[in-house]
Amino acid sequence: MFNGVVRQDPGPQFRQWLDVPFDENGAAKAGGARWDASQRAWYAPRPNMLELQRWAGRPPLPELLPGEDRSFGSGLFVDLIPSSCWFTNVRSCVAPSDWDRLRRMIYRRAGQKCEACGVGREPAVGTHLEAHERWHYDAATRIQRLMRLVCLCTWCHEATHFGLAEVRGHRERALMQLVAVNGWTADYAERHVRHAFVEWQRRSRVDWTLNLNILQDVDVQLQRPPEGEERRSVADDTLCRQSSHTRLPPQVALPAAGWYPDPSARFTHRWWDGAQWTYVVAVGGQAFVAEAVAPYGQHERGHEARGDRAADP
Ligand SMILES: [Zn+2]
Repeated sequence: MFNGVVRQDPGPQFRQWLDVPFDENGAAKAGGARWDASQRAWYAPRPNMLELQRWAGRPPLPELLPGEDRSFGSGLFVDLIPSSCWFTNVRSCVAPSDWDRLRRMIYRRAGQKCEACGVGREPAVGTHLEAHERWHYDAATRIQRLMRLVCLCTWCHEATHFGLAEVRGHRERALMQLVAVNGWTADYAERHVRHAFVEWQRRSRVDWTLNLNILQDVDVQLQRPPEGEERRSVADDTLCRQSSHTRLPPQVALPAAGWYPDPSARFTHRWWDGAQWTYVVAVGGQAFVAEAVAPYGQHERGHEARGDRAADP
């Protein structure tokens, strides 16, 4: 009976924290790693376990990144990523283990609570914590600059990426989140969303240069981001690949072709062709072809918002 004792966890003071990318959770577990739910981190129960050394944790990141402005973009608002910038971001420019270290630091310094609405994790109702990047767009220099990282709950994050919420069929919920957290009227929230989409269209015409300077002097491996024009190609290619992968299986019944309320709220109605949203819209009974932006429904598909919670085993 005494044999069991040697396998017991000798206590937190002997733990070696591990940086395990989500894809490697299974391998780490098989190698003896254990999960600490309160710290949201894997650890080696004894120091120097050879099979776990490849994930040996580096020192935690400082709780303020050099040059980060934690007062920038406070609260909850719709914050759409220009389509020319999709898929090139902090997450695409750092190693997966560094992204995990960053996320952990962001959750820790926020006290494991959403920085917009104050809730903590409640997995039973699908509420997780996610890391969100706040950007400043300088129209004169065409620089998209990372200002801060912020910890948001699933629902605030989804409202922030309002296009993604619509694709998931969560428009009403996202709108309610804006109303509830900000004390806005539904009318004001709708106007705010419309304004955000106008801004999104304007910004999506620009090829932005990514500036991640606040990550330059911290202990993360930072890859050189692609140039502005290159980013647009990355966005287009990734979207194309994801659209072909995420096509719904045929047994899922889609609504019949027809006019439906425009999910982007920019026009009264939009033509659904039975498989996807089109450019054809209508206002006051008058149909016309909308400005050639990505048809709504492809917006932000696969954006980084989706994967964050996946790091919880
Ligand atoms: Zn929240």
